[in-house]
Amino acid sequence: RRSPGQVARAGAGAAEEAAGGDLLVRYLGGTVSARALVATDLVRKACANHKMSPIASVALGRALMGTTLLASGRDAGEKLQVRIAGGGPCGTIITEASSALDCRGFVAEPEAEAATVPELVGVTEESSLRVTRTHPFWKSPYSGTVQLKSGEIAEDIVHYLATSEQTPASMGLSVEWDAEAEEVKHAEGWLITLLPGWDEGSVGVVEANINAFDRMETPEGVGRPDAICQHLMRELDGEFQTTESPHWRCTCSTERLLTAVMMLGKTEVLRILREKEPLEATCDWCGVHMSLTPDQVRAHMKSKVGRREVATRSSSPRGLKIEDEELQDMPNAGTADWS
Ligand SMILES: [Zn+2]
Repeated sequence: RRSPGQVARAGAGAAEEAAGGDLLVRYLGGTVSARALVATDLVRKACANHKMSPIASVALGRALMGTTLLASGRDAGEKLQVRIAGGGPCGTIITEASSALDCRGFVAEPEAEAATVPELVGVTEESSLRVTRTHPFWKSPYSGTVQLKSGEIAEDIVHYLATSEQTPASMGLSVEWDAEAEEVKHAEGWLITLLPGWDEGSVGVVEANINAFDRMETPEGVGRPDAICQHLMRELDGEFQTTESPHWRCTCSTERLLTAVMMLGKTEVLRILREKEPLEATCDWCGVHMSLTPDQVRAHMKSKVGRREVATRSSSPRGLKIEDEELQDMPNAGTADWS
């Protein structure tokens, strides 16, 4: 069964995809919300910034797409960060996406090797996945932390949604590596969430569609994300809702670096100035190299903003680093409905 919305959508998705950009689409059918994305370009950009092993590229790609799918459809201005802290060789993976789908992410040890993503991430009793949501109008950020279950990332995000946002969900994330070209060949993912009032009948239909995913084909003239959603919504009369373009964007700048230096406190900043050496820093996210002269640091420290930053070791409107005690637990069921 195809709704008129889907038919109208058929040509559009393929045309957008042919233009070469990454795409995320959302569909809604009754109490089932489906979103799917192709993000090959985004994942390649994230990996290009660092010297990365193939398996770390796959892990970062999964985390980045999972975060993007989680951020889509949230309130304008909201930013969502996912921090996967396992005990494996890659160390912590941190990814961010805003509701406008400005995305970035990095792996602490990008050259780390392992046979599988769960091995790379390393699931131990202490390992966790933390989602932190911030918004300029919120008094404090929300966060939810769950223990890592599988280290496959998609399953761990689903576990987070069920536990911290009371949202039943299912997710698939796939990053293909091209060994010959030594780059990511294709990256795609999907997320299904159930809205309040869902029924067992729809769940059964969705489960059957998920189980048949490997056999799905992309019809001619239909973009890949549309085809994924249409497949997942078979028998549910899913309607196309919206399309968005995820893209890489890092927020680092000389101003932010100056603020970060002020966070060290007055004693440390004065010690740096006494050394009369330029201050070198590399952005963890995008790998951009930045340099500050002692004159730049001194000038900022004497400015109105800099004086306050170095004295209070905090910045306005929101510090670069959120302290644990600032975080609030995710709101209860119903209030976190973003589908
Ligand atoms: Zn950067």
